[in-house]
Amino acid sequence: MSNSFKTFLKHTAKDFHNQAVNPPIVRASTIIFKSMGDIRKMQNKAKSDPTGGHFDYGRQGTSTTHVLQKILSKLEESYHTFLTPTGFGAVFLAIFSITRPGDEIIVADPVYSPTRILSQDFLKEFNIKTTFYNPHDLKTLENSITKKTKLIFVENPGSNTFEFHDIGKVVSIAKKHKILTAIDNTWATPYFLKPIKLGFDMAIVSATKYYSGHSDVMGGSLAVNKKVFKQVLKTEKITGLRLGPDDAYLITRGLRTLDVRLDRHRENAKKVSNFLSKFKNIKLLYPYKKDSLNFRMWKKYYSGASGLMGLRIKAKSEKSVTKFVNNLKLFGHGYSWGGFESLALHQNLREQGDREYLKLKKNEHLVRLHIGLEDPSDLIADIKQSLKHLK
Ligand SMILES: *Cc1c(COP(=O)(O)O)cnc(C)c1O
Repeated sequence: MSNSFKTFLKHTAKDFHNQAVNPPIVRASTIIFKSMGDIRKMQNKAKSDPTGGHFDYGRQGTSTTHVLQKILSKLEESYHTFLTPTGFGAVFLAIFSITRPGDEIIVADPVYSPTRILSQDFLKEFNIKTTFYNPHDLKTLENSITKKTKLIFVENPGSNTFEFHDIGKVVSIAKKHKILTAIDNTWATPYFLKPIKLGFDMAIVSATKYYSGHSDVMGGSLAVNKKVFKQVLKTEKITGLRLGPDDAYLITRGLRTLDVRLDRHRENAKKVSNFLSKFKNIKLLYPYKKDSLNFRMWKKYYSGASGLMGLRIKAKSEKSVTKFVNNLKLFGHGYSWGGFESLALHQNLREQGDREYLKLKKNEHLVRLHIGLEDPSDLIADIKQSLKHLK
């Protein structure tokens, strides 16, 4: 990554007015003006410059959220970036900005399970049809395209199973058929992958994860190009999805060290994956094996890898997998990831909505590890002492 990205994160958004290095938290519902004429003036400015941070009411944001939007648009190299109260709010906003009753969308099979439930169940109630494609066989994507297809929704790598696929090819297929594209880029963030530059129309990041980095705030971002901007703006207004200024402040503060943390997550994850790659009963779901499809597809598009990985474990006893996870002492057990601390979960894929293109065998189990910023030799020693429980 170039110096400018790192330096920008340290030097942006200073508050010269209050002589503070971070922006102030401006909380507002009512925004007061001296006269009706001034209100109209502001509304006209907002109309002619809709990304410029002109607000006449707190639901549109305040200077605190606007600062974060400006930072993220720079990182994403996007036309604009919308903020949502959670990462999933950004998924919702992307899908509902584009689809209407009678439309169809095509979604990557290994998407984040709430995204799967939203598309296959909830959209159906609005007469919107979803089909899923196999990320490692893009013919299943092309074969699903009809005249009604409005959106291709990508997540890379896949949630829990970490498939990397040819996302550039997805973009070119979509463009050929004049279909819009969205990608959930939470795993990499724009530090390692810039989807808008690659040709995606929309890019989602759960700010809850690496942007905040401290597991104490939730938020989401939806970066867009100019083509879809107006559609998303309209939907954002209608839904009332809004990130509060206190949360925006914490996310801006977290972003200062995004590069430093991600570089270290990557180093630590590399050390842990080197250790784990030696075990025959574990298939490591992380881009490390140079001759694998996942590695090649990662290498083709990404400038780095984050700290989240999967383990596909062969074990006769499912209980022994739970025991392995429970006996990790430095890994907390809980949802989400992207904070400074390590986490481990025994995932039940069957509970998360059926995958069309992946069936685990009875003796195969998934564990998700988030490799945090602890000393990696401590993490490796911890994993080592707990692996003995696998049977
Ligand atoms: C966590 C996550 C989300 C949702 O983010 P929240 O902030 O928890 O709502 C969406 N997509 C992916 C890939 C995630 O990991």
